[in-house]
Amino acid sequence: MTVNHVLVVGAGAMGSQIGMVCALAGLTATVTDIAAPALATADAALRSRLSRDIEKGRRLPAEVEAAFDRLTFRTDLAGAASTADYVIEAAVERLDVKRALFAELDKAAPPHAILATNSSSIVSSRIADATRRPEKVCNLHFFNPALIMKCVEVVRGPATSNATVDTSIALAKRLGKVPVVLNREIPGFVANRILNAVRDEAIFLLENGVASVEDIDTACRTALGYPMGPFELMDLTGIDIGYLTKQDRFAQSGDPKDRPSRSVAALVERGELGRKTGRGWYSYDEAGTRTPRPTAEVSVTS
Ligand code: NAD
Repeated sequence: MTVNHVLVVGAGAMGSQIGMVCALAGLTATVTDIAAPALATADAALRSRLSRDIEKGRRLPAEVEAAFDRLTFRTDLAGAASTADYVIEAAVERLDVKRALFAELDKAAPPHAILATNSSSIVSSRIADATRRPEKVCNLHFFNPALIMKCVEVVRGPATSNATVDTSIALAKRLGKVPVVLNREIPGFVANRILNAVRDEAIFLLENGVASVEDIDTACRTALGYPMGPFELMDLTGIDIGYLTKQDRFAQSGDPKDRPSRSVAALVERGELGRKTGRGWYSYDEAGTRTPRPTAEVSVTS
């Protein structure tokens, strides 16, 4: 199937950039949101980000102008869906919202359209039965920031057809991304599961008094070639984000190893969420310069 028009639902951190990735690749792209102000914010954020890219010589002005000409922001979901070949839902991470959206998209989109979700933790089989086309439903999982990160996970649900997987792989390639195919659903998918395993091990080593936050990060950078260590990365993305994801997974699985660690829970309870609060695994000054904290302050010993 040829994809000409991509509809992205949700104009937040992910949806806005996914829409622009599609427009930059030459596709007609529409971004919708339930909240009109979110569309204005997304438009402004993209314009400022792409202006910086032009200033730094990363993109040509004509390329960016042509992409904005192909990108439309609107609140009318049914109208936008009526001509969509491929829908990428990137709305708020709530199952009830996603199921209602998929039911609405199923009614409004042409019969050939694929309905994908960008959800990081909700597998598509929990949504597919809200539609009459479960074979055309899958996860298409981008990474943040979507304009930069190359990997896109294509996750096949039990009802997803081969044609849907093939079209999704082809779309990811057309967007200049590198598709990674998951032949069956698993919460967290591939990349985030590996990231979580590394995080869990880093916290295990800290809580058992083996090494400090700084030295564990240093080992990951200098021995394993990671661009940043697991503690640095948690501080950057927000310690609360990983905490909530683990809590959600624990609620679903009941497996004690999915429970957030005591050190993470203590940091979240104290509002020490990383760079955004000036404190997390490290302390940060106004200029964002990092200093290590004493291990006793951040580690709840096992
Ligand atoms: P966000 O909170 O930045 O944006 C969500 C947007 O959805 C908001 O603009 C909100 O107004 C809109 N929205 C809410 N209900 C809606 C509805 N019924 N119809 C249309 N729009 C609606 O969220 P985000 O970080 O962009 O995440 C969006 C999705 O992408 C989630 O499913 C998340 O799991 C997934 N994801 C996020 C990341 C990340 O790092 N943030 C990475 C990969 C995948």
